[in-house]
Amino acid sequence: MKYASEFRDPKAARALLAAIAGRADTIGATKENPIHIMEICGGHTHSIFRYGLDKLVHEGIEFIHGPGCPVCVLPRSRVDEAIEIARRPGVILTTFGDAMRVPGTRLSLLQAKAAGADVRMVYSPLDALALARRLPDREVVFFGLGFETTTPSTALAIQQAAREGLGNFSVFCNHITVPEPIRALLGDPDMVLHGFIGPGHVSMVIGVHPYDFIAQDFGKPIVVAGFEPTDLLQSVLMVLDQIAEGRAEVENQYARVVPEHGNPVSLAAIADVYERRPSFAWRGLGEIDASGLRVRRAYAAFDAEVKFGIGYGATPEPEPEGCACGAVMTGRMKPTACPQFGKGCTPDMPLGALMVSSEGACAAYWQYGGMRAAG
Ligand code: SF4
Repeated sequence: MKYASEFRDPKAARALLAAIAGRADTIGATKENPIHIMEICGGHTHSIFRYGLDKLVHEGIEFIHGPGCPVCVLPRSRVDEAIEIARRPGVILTTFGDAMRVPGTRLSLLQAKAAGADVRMVYSPLDALALARRLPDREVVFFGLGFETTTPSTALAIQQAAREGLGNFSVFCNHITVPEPIRALLGDPDMVLHGFIGPGHVSMVIGVHPYDFIAQDFGKPIVVAGFEPTDLLQSVLMVLDQIAEGRAEVENQYARVVPEHGNPVSLAAIADVYERRPSFAWRGLGEIDASGLRVRRAYAAFDAEVKFGIGYGATPEPEPEGCACGAVMTGRMKPTACPQFGKGCTPDMPLGALMVSSEGACAAYWQYGGMRAAG
C-alpha cells in the first residue's frame, strides 16, 4: 500500500467498522458502559474528528483525547518568559506559527509582536539558524517546544551552531516527552482507560519500547497508529482484540513508518544535547517528574535560559476562570461540555490552549462540527 487513498478506502473502512462492532459486542461494550480508548496524540484527535470516526464506530467505543498537543500543555508562565526574552534589546524571537497564538498570563507572542517585540514565525529551527548567520548583530532565539517529534531538529540546530561557533543563536527549550504524562495519567485512580492509541510521529523517533510499561506495569494494551482513517480503525480493532483475548501488549500498526527501536540518528542527537529536568509543569496536568528536557551544560552557550538569566521556574498554575482545559485533557469532560465552548472561547478568541492549536481537542471539535453543537 503506497498511496494515501488506499488508507481512505470506504470499503476497507466499512469492513473495519463491522469488525470493531463485532468485537465491541463480544466484549460487552455499550453506550452506558463504554470502552475508553485514549488517543495520546493531538494529530490523531484531529484525524478522528476530520473523518468522523467518533460517530462511525460502535457506540460502546469512546475516544478519550490525550495530552499530546505540545502547544496545549505549555504552561502560560513559559509564554510570559518567551515574551520577556523577545522584549530584550536586539533579540529576534523565532517560533512555529501555532505557538505564537498561545495565551500567556497577559499576552500571546502575536500580541507581543503587535506591541513592538521582534517575534518571527519560522518553519524549522534551521530557519532560525539561517537568520542568525544573516544578522550577526542580532540575538536570534528559537522558542523550542514539542514532543520527541521536534526535539531532534532543535538538537541538530544547536549542534550545528556549536560547530559554526554561532554565538548569536540560542534555544529557549521547552521540549517535553510523551511516556511520562501517560504514566502519570495511569497512576491517577480517577482515570478509567482501557487502552491506548500510541503516537505515530513521536514513535518514529523513540520506537515502541518506551511504552512497554503501559502493558507490563499497568496491564493496558497500546497500539502505535498511523493517521489515516483505516490506520485508526485498524488500531481500534487491534486494541479491542487484545482486550477480548485478555492480552496487554505494545503493538505497531504503523510499522511502515515506525521502526521498533526508533531513529538512531535522532536519538543520538537528543542524548548529546539534552538532559532531563527534575520535573516539568504541564498545563492542565500539573507537575510531572522527568517529563521535560533542558540543554546540557556542554551547550550552555546556546541555552537561552543561561544566556538571558531566565532559569526554569514554571509551577502549576490555575487556568483562566471558567476554563476546563485540565478536565478535557484528562478525559473527564468533552469539549462541548465546557461552559466556555463557543461562547467565551473560540479559535478566533481562545481562552484555553486546547482551542489554540489545530491539534487541540476543543479546536478539533469546533472545526468539525462543534460550532454547530455550540449553537
Ligand atoms: S472550550 Fe476553551 S476554555 Fe473550555 S476547555 Fe476548551 S479550550 Fe479550555
